[in-house]
Amino acid sequence: MVEAADQATREHSHVQRVVFFLSAMRHYARDMRDRGYRVDYTPLGTVPTLEQGLREAIERLAPEELHAGEAGEYDIERMLEACASSAGLTLTWHPNRYVLCSRDEFRAHASGRKTLRMEYFYRWMRRRYDVLMDGSEPAGGEWNFDADNRGSFPKTGPPETLEQPPHRADEITEAVIQEVRTLLPDLPGRIDRFIWPVTPEDASSDLETFVDTRLHNFGTYQDAMWQGEQLLYHARLSPSLNTGLLDPREAIRRAESAYRAGRVSIAAAEGFIRQILGWREYVRGVYWLHMPEYRDMNELSASAPLPDFFWTGITDMNCVSDTVSGLNEYAYEHHIQRLMVTGLYAMLVGADPRAVEDWYMGMYVDSVEWVTLANVLGMSQYADGGIMASKPYAATGKYIQRMSNYCASCRFNPAKATGEDACPFTTLYWDFLDRHEARLKRNRRMALQVKNLERKTPEERDAIRREAYTHKDRPS
Ligand code: FAD
Ligand code: SF4
Repeated sequence: MVEAADQATREHSHVQRVVFFLSAMRHYARDMRDRGYRVDYTPLGTVPTLEQGLREAIERLAPEELHAGEAGEYDIERMLEACASSAGLTLTWHPNRYVLCSRDEFRAHASGRKTLRMEYFYRWMRRRYDVLMDGSEPAGGEWNFDADNRGSFPKTGPPETLEQPPHRADEITEAVIQEVRTLLPDLPGRIDRFIWPVTPEDASSDLETFVDTRLHNFGTYQDAMWQGEQLLYHARLSPSLNTGLLDPREAIRRAESAYRAGRVSIAAAEGFIRQILGWREYVRGVYWLHMPEYRDMNELSASAPLPDFFWTGITDMNCVSDTVSGLNEYAYEHHIQRLMVTGLYAMLVGADPRAVEDWYMGMYVDSVEWVTLANVLGMSQYADGGIMASKPYAATGKYIQRMSNYCASCRFNPAKATGEDACPFTTLYWDFLDRHEARLKRNRRMALQVKNLERKTPEERDAIRREAYTHKDRPS
């Protein structure tokens, strides 16, 4: 095992992301040793790159063969293959347990289809793994209860307390925090408190707490946001799932059992299971199906720089400033903040998708390229031209107003596209439609939005374009 600084500094990584990965690695190494395995461990500060660490280990250990679990990143697989080949060793890949659907199965599912859609893949997965099925029919009579997953909070806010006791940082985690502070002092983000699990036991107890105390609210408030509340009823299980601390089968099984026992509604259980059995598996499939071309896709030719406030949080836009400040505190934001606050702003302003991807890869505790790339480039930026999502997730500030209390204390007005108090999201939304009108016209799912644009007078459109300039370095 190698703790290589390039893995933490290649993207400007949040300090909690680095601590999470290193602490989980050290706990894993300790457990393996306790179980009698010999572990060759290269600590932080010894080698600059993972590749060098691996090459040195091959020299030192002189193995007869190499075996590896499938990597989470295309380039790391190529690097491992190159190391094996230059050392004259055979390399055998082993499937990972952190997902259910193998790459070959996904390829077979995708083959011959003109367009891939998550919903059909998800139904296939439900049947294949017999999840939430009553015989050959979906439990509750529907495949998808998405329509019940879009509630917003009443004026009084989230209905229940949300606190989850954080895990105590043990001596391993404390040591990692100290080392990271000393050896990598310039990482972004804060680490006043560290809430992330670093062992399978911690991850399993997080799952139990989630199912017992938050899952019943998860379905209804899945898309809701609330000022100062970053965690809400979400599971916060992605770091555990992506590093293998928690088996996705276990998460699915527990959610289904809670439904079967009458403890949560079908909409809550299905909403949660769809994320893991559907979206998570689907984005992995898309990633491996389309790499390496996928990362260079830029359907909308977006090239603007990522605004500085993505790092600092200093902006009058209340929704963005709250999202970025929560991110600095936890290295986490839930799905709607990722998609419909920072992701939406980046797409509307025309930010370069690679810069956007680097930011997400660096700043989130759960980022691993196979899951981050397809979510960022595909789902949130529409850079893949519709492989992941059938249309761009474009909306005005009114969507944020409906799903949160952010606008109530913001100096901007989400209903206004121009003028002193125009909401930047709303201005940029109309400008986005205006810039991409010809392309969007060809997408039937965008017909209504384009029609509304066409109702605007030439003078209104000009005013929007002028206003939009103030928000971006507009490509000529
Ligand atoms: P919950 O909302 O409670 O969902 C439960 C689980 O479902 C998650 O733990 C996750 O494993 C899975 N899941 C839900 N949605 C997705 C999805 N779209 N893709 C894959 N898995 C999903 N997820 C990551 O794990 N790593 C990332 O780097 C990442 N980057 C994202 C970037 C953008 C722009 C967007 C829009 C989404 C991204 N996601 C990413 C997906 C999703 O936002 C997170 O998985 C989720 O917010 C994690 O928090 P949670 O565990 O509380 O999830
Ligand atoms: Fe965000 Fe616009 Fe609402 Fe302000 S008015 S919080 S910028 S959506």
